[in-house]
Amino acid sequence: MSNLEPITITDLEHTVSQCNRCSLSKSRNCTVPGEGNYDAQVMVIGEAPGSNEDKTGRPFAGRAGNLLNELLDSVGIKRPQIYITNMLKCRPPSNRDPQQSEIDSCNPYLDLQISLIKPSVIITLGRFSFSKFLPNIPLSKARGVVSEWNGIKILPIYHPAAALYNPSLKPKLLQDFQKITSLISMDEPVVFEQSQIIPATQLSLFDDHFE
Ligand code: SF4
Repeated sequence: MSNLEPITITDLEHTVSQCNRCSLSKSRNCTVPGEGNYDAQVMVIGEAPGSNEDKTGRPFAGRAGNLLNELLDSVGIKRPQIYITNMLKCRPPSNRDPQQSEIDSCNPYLDLQISLIKPSVIITLGRFSFSKFLPNIPLSKARGVVSEWNGIKILPIYHPAAALYNPSLKPKLLQDFQKITSLISMDEPVVFEQSQIIPATQLSLFDDHFE
């Protein structure tokens, strides 16, 4: 962390653009630090850049991004209102899964983004970003259930790319995105339905709740 020290999101994006903390720096075309509202109430965290993202430097720029836009539209949210990033800021070759060493190397950037943007709600897309906040819990059980992490509401959802390969997941994505509206209003102060909130430390104790 001591060699990072960016003090704004712009500093951080510049630092990421020159990063060689893991081997993905050798194969990337563009770094993909994230984009959106630096004062966002909602931060969306995906897995890693894909081919389109690697070409453009923008997160969720391909088909999964189009579906993400559709899901956000379904709850009246536009991308410029939120901040979108990934666990990794560089594309893994052939879109393979991130390696733990890469996640560990890149994680300080994500922590800094969270501390600088200070979102009220984090939506995790897919199992890798979910595992950062709620390790050792199956996403299939925790999806759609709000929990807390350092005072931030965490809403785990399947990755939109999963619904591209398995269209039967799309209704679950639409259903889970509807929960965002009960957590925030983009124009009003944040309102939380306390009955929905489960401390992350207790999630594994509530298996029946997820069935
Ligand atoms: S993935 Fe993250 S840690 Fe690895 S080179 Fe890219 S910015 Fe640096």
